[in-house]
Amino acid sequence: MRQILSALVLACCAALGSGPARAQTELSALARIEPARSGVVAEGGQIALTLGIDQAVPFRAFLLDDPPRLVVDFREVDFTGASPAALDPEGLLGEIRWGRFRPGWSRMVAELVTPAALVEAVERTGATPRITLRLDPVAADDFAARAGAPASALWDLPQPAAIDTAPHRRQDGSAPLRIVLDPGHGGIDPGAEAEGHSEAVLVMTFARELKEALTRAGMEVLMTREEDVFVPLETRLTVARASGADALISLHADALAEGQATGATAYHFDPAASDDAARKLAERHDRADLLAGVDLEGHDDEVAGVLMDLARAETQPRSLRLSQVMVGAIREAGLKMYKHPVQGADFSVLKAPDFPSVLLELGFLSSEADRKRLLDAEWRKRMVAAIAGGLETWAQADAAEARLLRQ
Ligand SMILES: [Zn+2]
Repeated sequence: MRQILSALVLACCAALGSGPARAQTELSALARIEPARSGVVAEGGQIALTLGIDQAVPFRAFLLDDPPRLVVDFREVDFTGASPAALDPEGLLGEIRWGRFRPGWSRMVAELVTPAALVEAVERTGATPRITLRLDPVAADDFAARAGAPASALWDLPQPAAIDTAPHRRQDGSAPLRIVLDPGHGGIDPGAEAEGHSEAVLVMTFARELKEALTRAGMEVLMTREEDVFVPLETRLTVARASGADALISLHADALAEGQATGATAYHFDPAASDDAARKLAERHDRADLLAGVDLEGHDDEVAGVLMDLARAETQPRSLRLSQVMVGAIREAGLKMYKHPVQGADFSVLKAPDFPSVLLELGFLSSEADRKRLLDAEWRKRMVAAIAGGLETWAQADAAEARLLRQ
């Protein structure tokens, strides 16, 4: 059985070179999960997970700790029609999420209620292909010893952000403004969900419309994701840095569990931020990343930390002004703002020390009124125009300051 698994893993690796373009052409031929042939059952003290698929796909399975998780990667699989609740109605495995992980690849993550060893991982081909995984409960210590991603799973790890190579020159108005738009969530991480709408999809729609408006205004616009795919938080920063971003705008529409919060909020990076709602949002964003399985290696480096602090000393006030100008523009357009529209937060995606960034919560998916607004093309048009105008205002003032500092 082990041989079968490693053969499949090799098949995965051989196909790693394929980029988004190739994945696109294969979309029509995606393997589909067949819910009627899939399920989680208890068998002789073990837990068996069966996934019926309409065609065999390369896959690999492994365990991660803190918290204990089972991770299964597949050559892209269509989960339409399947639901975690129907797959595991008794909750034997634990909380399950799945979705696209990167172009051409899907990932399923189960937060294990009981630490367990993976004792079988096989795929049966033929007329009714299926993947069977069998888990045998073990003690927590034993689990920790077994957990770990295979080297081939490190492909998605972002490289540590280098801040001392090719420093990006601060924008001074002499070249088109380069904006990186970051539609939050995606793929295995849908973000907030309400009434059949997911944050990942709503902010993608908004990002595309904003991109069009900014491009029309003469800016160069790049996106951290172009489709419904998972992108780790650190990769979003790496993408922005690699493209020489003058500013990063992360777009979200999260849900708040408590209260009747409505309206837009602009967040700038503030590691000391103590607002309870912001802290919870930061934790949720980081946790979505963690659960998706990107915490395979630590990047902490003390020296880099000091350099980052220095660079941030210049960037942080620029980010704050970007937030303030943005909020001013949105308010001027008569659009709904949250009661505390400018806020600091310890959001990972805002941590870049070398270019300003702002995270815009366009509204709260938990609010019916905000949901309506986000789904309304006319409202989005006004919001897009306000953000584009705010960005231009900010860029002019920021460029003027850059020129002054240089004299
Ligand atoms: Zn979000």
